[in-house]
Amino acid sequence: MKPDCDVIIVGAGMAGMTAALWANRLGLSSIVLEAAAEPGGQLAGIQDKLIDFPGFSENGSDLAKTLYDQVLRGNSKIQLATPALKLDPAACVIESNSGAVRGRAIVISTGLRRRRIPRLESLSESFVFYTSQPRESFSGDRLLILGGGDGAVENALLLARQWQKISLVHRSALRARPALLAQLSQHSNVETILNSTLENIVGNRVEIQTPAGARDLVVDRILVKIGFEADSSLIATLGYDSGTFARVSAEQELLYPDGKVVPQVWVAGDVCTRMDPSLVVAAGQACIALRSIERQLRP
Ligand SMILES: Cc1cc2nc3c(=O)[nH]c(=O)nc-3n(C[C@H](O)[C@H](O)[C@H](O)COP(=O)(O)OP(=O)(O)OC[C@H]3O[C@@H](n4cnc5c(N)ncnc54)[C@H](O)[C@@H]3O)c2cc1C
Repeated sequence: MKPDCDVIIVGAGMAGMTAALWANRLGLSSIVLEAAAEPGGQLAGIQDKLIDFPGFSENGSDLAKTLYDQVLRGNSKIQLATPALKLDPAACVIESNSGAVRGRAIVISTGLRRRRIPRLESLSESFVFYTSQPRESFSGDRLLILGGGDGAVENALLLARQWQKISLVHRSALRARPALLAQLSQHSNVETILNSTLENIVGNRVEIQTPAGARDLVVDRILVKIGFEADSSLIATLGYDSGTFARVSAEQELLYPDGKVVPQVWVAGDVCTRMDPSLVVAAGQACIALRSIERQLRP
């Protein structure tokens, strides 16, 4: 069967879009599959001005737009709202919700996803939510935030003006930046309940196990902010546990968990970067991957 393109790229974040630019630069055709309706991944959500991306100092969503335009001007096809569902490395095929795509090489750049709490999955989405929502969408006065990193504390500070009572529950000490923690003490309506775990939820009554014993909280909404994990669902069939970062060679080739190379599959960006994920690292890895692909396709 004739391939649909040289390189299939999964994900249109910084890594995936840079991979598309480099495919174009090296004369390779590419198809980018992006699950979301908009391109950009995490970059599209950065509203602050970038201070560490060489040569660009506007905010992240501006860079996402610029990058997307740049990719569209090249020889790549980007299919939005098209999640890749299954990887077949031997056939070099990706199955998506709009059918199978066959390439000569695959780049996986699926980034990160929010960590979720499996036991809360059965609860209504209007009771448990993972991203901040406008206050108008909710009734009630009492908000429970689960988490203790920057995301959880930032949200507690932001929402403290809107909710009458916020309980911030975390299983250990807070890990947020000192500057954020300093502001927390200025909000008398935010209670921190540390070294504590969620035990049970019945209706809107949440049972927390604290160092001083069990405690019941009555809450109107639960916001979960417990960080991110690698979006490795596509490589689960290769023996990777859910949320595990992909292992790669120095050329960004995907490795099986035991260290053997997975033929025809490369990886770039946060999905393989446990330490120090960043825009420049994601872009650099995409460049390395595409150069390696070119060497293999045109020895
Ligand atoms: C709030 C915030 C601020 C940040 N600030 C900075 C900063 O100032 N400087 C810096 O260097 N870094 C910053 N970062 C980190 C930086 O944004 C990331 O390191 C970088 O964007 C990672 O890019 P990526 O392409 O690897 O992954 P992502 O941006 O996560 O993109 C992955 C893409 O893959 C798609 N996808 C996932 N699964 C599938 C699938 N099965 N099929 C198809 N598509 C799929 C996703 O929808 C997503 O669009 C920040 C991150 C955040 C969240």
